[in-house]
Amino acid sequence: MRIGLLTSGGDAPGMNATIRAVVRAAIHNGDTVFGIYDGYRGLVEGKIVEFTRKNVSEILNKGGTILGTARLPEFTYEAVRRLAVEQLKKHDIESLICLGGDGTYSGAIRLHEMGIKTIGVPCTIDNDIASTDFTIGFSTALSTACDAIDKLRDTSSSHQRCSIIEVMGRHCGDLALYSGICCGAEYIITNETGLDKNKLLNDLKQTRLAGRRHAIVVISENMTDVHQLAKEVEAFTGYECRATILGYVQRGGTPTPEDRLLAARLGKYAVDLLKEGVTGVAVGVKDNKLVSTPIEQALAMQNEPNVELFDVVNKIS
Ligand code: ADP
Repeated sequence: MRIGLLTSGGDAPGMNATIRAVVRAAIHNGDTVFGIYDGYRGLVEGKIVEFTRKNVSEILNKGGTILGTARLPEFTYEAVRRLAVEQLKKHDIESLICLGGDGTYSGAIRLHEMGIKTIGVPCTIDNDIASTDFTIGFSTALSTACDAIDKLRDTSSSHQRCSIIEVMGRHCGDLALYSGICCGAEYIITNETGLDKNKLLNDLKQTRLAGRRHAIVVISENMTDVHQLAKEVEAFTGYECRATILGYVQRGGTPTPEDRLLAARLGKYAVDLLKEGVTGVAVGVKDNKLVSTPIEQALAMQNEPNVELFDVVNKIS
């Protein structure tokens, strides 16, 4: 087989570990792998280079992606995708492994429909792909968020402050939910819980009156303007209140062992599936078992609220 490999959309720690796994597994099978730089944009522009084991040495523990990533909104046009298919044909590449999130999956399924054998590998810090329990990058982002929230707790406690911390997640509350539990946040606000501002303000006032030196509120991005919310908390509760948006630091850093392990398993699995003739699927893990799901189905699946973890929040926060 001649396999193309690209990373697309937002970068995620563990993409490099996945690239390494794909290249090594394919070469082990006697296949040839081509690294495609800068996602679908680089594919259309023909930035395609044959990869050997040497190309992937010393990258296992590095954040980001050595292939680079880019966004190409025009990839929704068939005429643009046809250019991509032509580039693949020119290099005699019949299969493509696409690392990224749901946008990347949408591009992959369109290419599959145009006769390219494609496999999607879930690489995003948001954990927002329902066809897998965990995406590659989530564990590292969680670890980074926890580290930051622990540090903010130290200063909040010293200054008797309320800290509002906004974490990433696009439309998925997992980073807020998991980091909030791990860091003992008093309040966790996600798109699943919704933001009941009156309740939050009243609860925080009670917390202050009860003599708590600090309060931590972890909130998903896109819920509200957190700086404005901090002003309202200050005015209503008497707590000094600061909002911190963690932002892009959550995207970087050396991948955790969990992300490296997932990258190794899913990268090799993607190559195995191509070898078996399976295409148009997204790989993942469910209950720690490898699974593959047709990409169309993976894109249509909804993330279910994690009832068990929300119950933990209700009982121990
Ligand atoms: P992610 O993969 O992290 O969700 P994006 O949503 O930015 O990131 O998508 C990455 C790229 O995938 C886009 O820049 C575009 O090239 C391609 N893409 C996204 N949606 C589609 C679509 N509906 N059809 C074809 N290509 C798409």
